[in-house]
Amino acid sequence: MQRLHIAIAGCGPAGLATALLLHRDGHHVTLFERFDVPRAVGSGLMIQPTGFAVLRELGLDGALLDHGARIDRLHGEAGSSGRVVLGVRYAALGKRAGFGVGVHRAALFALLHDAVAAEGIAIETGCAVIGSDAAAGGRRLLVLEGGRRTPPFGLIVDALGTRTPLAPPCGRALAYGALWGTLDWPEDAGFDPAALEQRYRRASVMVGVLPIGRFPGARRRQAALFWSLRADRLAAWHAAGLDAWKAEVAALWPATQALLDQIASPEQLTFARYAHRTLSTPAEPGMIHIGDAWHSASPQLGQGANMALLDAWAVARALRRASDIPAALADAVAMRRRHVHLYQALTALFTPVYQSDSRVLPFVRDRIVGPLSKLWPATRIQAAMVSGLIGSPMRPLFD
Ligand SMILES: Cc1cc2nc3c(=O)[nH]c(=O)nc-3n(C[C@H](O)[C@H](O)[C@H](O)COP(=O)(O)OP(=O)(O)OC[C@H]3O[C@@H](n4cnc5c(N)ncnc54)[C@H](O)[C@@H]3O)c2cc1C
Repeated sequence: MQRLHIAIAGCGPAGLATALLLHRDGHHVTLFERFDVPRAVGSGLMIQPTGFAVLRELGLDGALLDHGARIDRLHGEAGSSGRVVLGVRYAALGKRAGFGVGVHRAALFALLHDAVAAEGIAIETGCAVIGSDAAAGGRRLLVLEGGRRTPPFGLIVDALGTRTPLAPPCGRALAYGALWGTLDWPEDAGFDPAALEQRYRRASVMVGVLPIGRFPGARRRQAALFWSLRADRLAAWHAAGLDAWKAEVAALWPATQALLDQIASPEQLTFARYAHRTLSTPAEPGMIHIGDAWHSASPQLGQGANMALLDAWAVARALRRASDIPAALADAVAMRRRHVHLYQALTALFTPVYQSDSRVLPFVRDRIVGPLSKLWPATRIQAAMVSGLIGSPMRPLFD
C-alpha cells in the first residue's frame, strides 16, 4: 500500500494508538480533536491482556505498568452477607494467564499523547468535527467553526467515541450509569491493591473500588470509587445530599469510609451515562469507524478501551497488507467483527445482572451462578471473558 494522507478524528485511546501505528508505517497522519488542549475526561479504567498486547507493540507497556496498578483478581460480595458472588482470578488461565492494569484515564491518555507528540504527529486542536463529505481526491472533514472543510484525505479514521457525528445514531442509552471519583488510595483500610473489588445489594446497588496507580509525576497512589446510579435518580441523589449517600455506602461496605472521608463536594464525582450501540456498517468509502464510534457498551466487562486498541491494531495491520483502501477497510472489519459482536452480546447479557431493577437476576447470581462460578471450568471461562480473550481475538491480529 502506498503512503496515504490520513485524518484521524478523536484523541481518545483509539485515535492516539492508530495515529502512532500509522505514522510509524510511514503514512502522513493528522489528528483532529475538539478540545483546545487534548485531555481525558473521567476516572479509571482497566487495561486487559488484549489492550496490553497492543500497548506492548507500541512500546508503552513498561510505562503503563509504571503508572498503573497491576490487577490479579476481581472480587464481588453480595451486601453485608460476605457471600462471594464474583471471584475471578486471571491466574485461572494457567500458562496463558495475563493480568489487568487499573489506570487513571488521564494517565493512559498522557502515555499515548506524549508518544504522539514525541514523534511529531500533527494534532489540530479546538476542531469540533461535525461531518464529512466525499471530494475529489478523497474525503474531507467538516469542522464546526465557520463550517470549514479540511483538505481531502485518502482515509478518515473516525475515533470520535460513542456520540460520533460521522455515523448515524444507533443503539440505546442505558437506564443505569455510575458516579465516578478519583481519590487517594487508602493505605490502611484493608483494600487489596491488586484487586477490583465490588459490593452489591440486589442489582440496583453497587459500589466498587479500583486501584489505578499513580498519575505521571505524582507520588500518591490513587483509587477510582464508583457508585451505580440510575440516570433518572441523579437529581434525587443531589437533593438528598452527600451525607445521606455516604451513610448508605458505608453501611453496605464499611471499609469505604476512608474513601468517603475524602469527598467534600458532589463535584468530586462525575456521573457517566452508558449506552449500548454497534454500527452495522463500520466501514464506508474512504472512512472507517473504530473504538466507541463503532461499538460502545456499559463498562461491566471493562473491554471498551481494549477493543479500541485492538481496532487500531487491525486498521494498521490491514493497511500494511492490502493492495487498496477498500480491501484494507474490509480486512480490518473482518479481523474485528466477530469479537466485537461477541463482547457486545456478552456485555448486554451481564449488565442487567449487576445494574438493573431486576430481583430475579441478582437472586440467581447470588444463589446459583456465584457458587457454581467457583468450580472449574467456570473459573477459566470467567478469566478468559474478563481478559477479553473469548472468541480468540488475537489470532487474526497477531498471527
Ligand atoms: C465510566 C466508564 C468506565 C469505563 N471503564 C472501562 C474499563 O475498565 N476498561 C475499558 O476497556 N473500557 C472502559 N470504559 C470504556 C472506555 O472508556 C471507552 O471504550 C474508550 O475510551 C473508547 O475509546 P475511543 O478512543 O474509541 O473513544 P473516546 O475515549 O470517547 O475518545 C473520543 C475522543 O474524540 C474526541 N471527540 C469527541 N467528539 C468530537 C468531535 N465532534 N470533534 C472532535 N473531537 C471529538 C473526544 O474529546 C475524545 O478525545 C469505560 C467507560 C466509562 C464511561
